[in-house]
Amino acid sequence: MTGGADGPISKILIANRGEVAVRIIRACRELGIKTVQVYSEADARSIPVYMADQAVLIGPPPPTESYLRGDRLVEAALTTGCDAVHPGFGFLSENADFAAAVQAAGLTFVGPEPDSIRAMGLKTAALALVRAAGVPTLPDYEGGDDLGDYQRAAHEIGYPVLVKAVAGGGGRGMRIVRAEAELLDAIQSARRESEKAFADSRVFLEKYIENARHIEFQVFADRHGNTVHLFERECSIQRRHQKIIEETPSSYLNVDLRTQMGTAAVNAAKAVNYVNAGTIEFIVDIDDGRFYFLEMNTRLQVEHPVTEFVTGIDLVKLQIQVAAGEPLPFRQQDLSQRGHALECRVYAEDPANGFLPVTGTILKIVEPRGPGIRVDSGVGSGDTITIHYDPMIAKLVVYDRNRVLAIRRMDAALSQYIILGLTTNLQFVRDVINSPEFQAGNTTTSLIERQFANWQPLNVPISDEALIAATISEIRQRPISSTQADPTADVYSPWLRGDAFRIGG
Ligand code: ADP
Ligand code: ADP
Ligand code: MG
Repeated sequence: MTGGADGPISKILIANRGEVAVRIIRACRELGIKTVQVYSEADARSIPVYMADQAVLIGPPPPTESYLRGDRLVEAALTTGCDAVHPGFGFLSENADFAAAVQAAGLTFVGPEPDSIRAMGLKTAALALVRAAGVPTLPDYEGGDDLGDYQRAAHEIGYPVLVKAVAGGGGRGMRIVRAEAELLDAIQSARRESEKAFADSRVFLEKYIENARHIEFQVFADRHGNTVHLFERECSIQRRHQKIIEETPSSYLNVDLRTQMGTAAVNAAKAVNYVNAGTIEFIVDIDDGRFYFLEMNTRLQVEHPVTEFVTGIDLVKLQIQVAAGEPLPFRQQDLSQRGHALECRVYAEDPANGFLPVTGTILKIVEPRGPGIRVDSGVGSGDTITIHYDPMIAKLVVYDRNRVLAIRRMDAALSQYIILGLTTNLQFVRDVINSPEFQAGNTTTSLIERQFANWQPLNVPISDEALIAATISEIRQRPISSTQADPTADVYSPWLRGDAFRIGG
């Protein structure tokens, strides 16, 4: 055992915001653990601030002055008497120095050891590491300043190649190159984007798989030598190399391939002595069925709820229990997949305009409810989506016995989801899940580009005032349902009988 102050956890600092903060607070409540929510000036009235037992202001709205200030986060944890810090995802969740600072302060970091984060942090180093552990990877090349070397390497790898940011994440710093003439421009622009996003301009080349699926495996390890996987998540439906619809099980995998990939995922995790929740991302070449390690995300994943539905395991509670030093309460052979789960990420963005993020105030939000429906959200009516943070509003997750039923349930849930005040991708994701290719399970990473490049919303946009007025007048004019209106209808309702429950009669 290294670092940290592992042992019982009674109070956790949540070093994040939004929906993941709400998710962690819920898990803590159920475990009887107190929570401290940090917040920037922009989030003073946010839902997690109200939900947590305590809240601490850490700075102005820009993340570099608040949620990325590791020193302030550690200080807030210490002054409020926390014994652990949960980093969520995004922000400092994959920052090894932050994890180390948390441990150095005598606090438990709810996540892997700093060394494991560091080892997987740079994509090229991670590739070399898992390759040595026998996990399949694609040919890659990382050079220095000589661009001629890249041209030679790309020729050797064979076009198409993908230029990727060494420190990449969230789909940024990536360029597909199909011919040598485009290579140098792609490298330059990927470098610029990467420098801006990650303060690291290094890029590398990787063989690009044209007909591909993104299939990842959830892994979990404790401090007692147990490492398991919790099956796959199919995340091929992406725009700008970032996921928007995820599901499990994957319609592509059979028992054999699932076992092979699961074993490779466990081996990749073991190669960095991994502890806690992590995700091994693979790209699968559907032309020959071979799979290749892309990267490891050393944190909780945005799409973790689909795994929770199908395995029946609360991954956030398990993260906290494992961080407290408890062993995993199951072995690999105890785990199984039951039913089918689907997730749609609900973004404040304009799918008809390059998926550009939009900002604004949510006038009204009505979330769908019902059996097998889960909404993970951190915002409500009146909240504002700002330029400072990720434009994800919520995640809509559904569960049912099989894929067909899960898609129907998702369609019905999306039809009930109302967000007024800003443009969202709700109608877009509904069109995607209702498309023949999605329904047939032919989900590849290029589906959106191939089928939805020129997507337009069905209706010409109308103003929110008009929508509100329309909603109100619709409610007023809604006729009494036919069963209520028909006195001969065979419906029993005590409310329809004047004498049903006369009090004191
Ligand atoms: P994953 O690899 O887990 O599928 P991404 O690659 O999309 O997810 O990266 C994590 C994303 O989550 C980032 O885009 C980041 O900006 C976003 N993010 C971080 N914190 C939050 C939060 N509190 N609420 C919503 N989104 C967040
Ligand atoms: P990030 O850290 O930004 O998540 P990833 O390496 O996970 O970067 O890649 C993001 C997405 O880009 C993948 O899910 C996949 O759709 C696409 N991609 C990445 N590498 C390749 C590749 N070699 N061939 C084909 N598609 C790829
Ligand atoms: Mg990735």
